[in-house]
Amino acid sequence: MDLHFSPEHETFRQEIQAFLSTNWQFEKDAKPAPEAIKAFRQLATEQGYLYRGVPKNYGGGEQPADVLKAQIIAQEFRRAGAPTEVLGVGTQMLVPTLLECGEEWQRERFVRKTIEGEYRWCQGYSEPNSGSDLASLRTRGELVGDEWVINGQKVWTSYARDANYMFALVRTEPEAPKHAGLSYLLIDLNQPGIDIRPLKQINGGTEFNEVFLENVRTPASWIVGPRGGGWKVSRSLLKHERNMIGSLDRSDALFASLLGLARRVQRDGAPALQDSAVRDRLAMLAGHLEVQRYSNYIQLTRESRGQSAGLLQMLNKLSQSNFGHLVAQTSLDLVQNDALLTGAPGRKLGNERWMNQYMGSLASSIAGGTSNIQRNIIAERGLGLPRDAANPTGEAS
Ligand SMILES: Cc1cc2nc3c(=O)[nH]c(=O)nc-3n(C[C@H](O)[C@H](O)[C@H](O)COP(=O)(O)OP(=O)(O)OC[C@H]3O[C@@H](n4cnc5c(N)ncnc54)[C@H](O)[C@@H]3O)c2cc1C
Repeated sequence: MDLHFSPEHETFRQEIQAFLSTNWQFEKDAKPAPEAIKAFRQLATEQGYLYRGVPKNYGGGEQPADVLKAQIIAQEFRRAGAPTEVLGVGTQMLVPTLLECGEEWQRERFVRKTIEGEYRWCQGYSEPNSGSDLASLRTRGELVGDEWVINGQKVWTSYARDANYMFALVRTEPEAPKHAGLSYLLIDLNQPGIDIRPLKQINGGTEFNEVFLENVRTPASWIVGPRGGGWKVSRSLLKHERNMIGSLDRSDALFASLLGLARRVQRDGAPALQDSAVRDRLAMLAGHLEVQRYSNYIQLTRESRGQSAGLLQMLNKLSQSNFGHLVAQTSLDLVQNDALLTGAPGRKLGNERWMNQYMGSLASSIAGGTSNIQRNIIAERGLGLPRDAANPTGEAS
């Protein structure tokens, strides 16, 4: 097995390095002005390095699919500390979905402004009694004249207060079987009837929200996919969300910071890195990381041949969440009581940021479908085990 990049790809890497050294000259810890970041993103997009899957007429970089080039861009941009695509559910989930399932006017109306950061989206899926069993959701959408009128409640809606739009799964066909009764609607959040209430988290943050919708209106044409076809559209979105969560880059960066921590923290007068128990755990984690790396390579190979990655995406998301949790546990053992400090406003976080990592690692085993549900699906569809009696639909949110 030859895991080297081809000469063509190595030449491409040099091209990227040259582009970055000319156009991104900030130090890694620098805080460039938002205008500088925006201008850089625009240039990188025009060169075809960012938003490669988005056609130029919607503001993208429009390049033929090449997962290896995409990988090289990600590696080199990360190494240079340069801004990559705007993160968030708008760019990472909605845009690919509109390209796959949306109508032409919807792409023209929403894609460019989303990747430029003007339209910020939140995801309205989960409801108080519908998480893993998402298809049971009850928020109603009724077509009245040329508008959908929406009533119900969403929960765990990340960053809803920063968003100006929501993509939501809504029950529009109450008589149909549960999966066939859902439609995928786009909703402007800036209107009467929307009540967004922050949920305070155990780590003090308030990224989550409850969103109450009372007689909220959206044009009849703001539906993605056919009426009653929202479940299929939402599956396409989750595929993108799992890709987002399962990225190997994140695991690499996390492990590098854990190693840095083990070098800095002292144990019995020497860096913790020299302690045999710590080394043992780090070696075990390095093993996990390598397994993830090769699993990602298999995914890349399949995708570069135009084949579906199948359940591998799900496996990679699962192993990335597990890895994040194991790294966080190890880091807490290293920083010990320091993890209990709370960050002063405006001050850069010190070792206490590992507590956030720990809390975040628990969250990522829930977001985008819980690890339990992922295991069920892998067991049933990957290993051919009998269906879980408690979840006869075999689907997770
Ligand atoms: C960080 C984060 C961000 C999120 N952002 C959003 C967002 O922006 N928009 C949005 O709509 N939602 C969001 N969510 C919600 C998320 O999608 C749900 O929390 C998730 O789908 C689980 O649903 P639930 O919380 O209702 O748990 P439940 O479905 O009630 O599950 C509770 C527990 O029971 C287990 N369980 C349930 N059914 C089974 C089964 N059949 N077999 C085995 N175990 C089972 C689960 O694994 C879990 O451990 C977010 C969640 C997190 C943590």
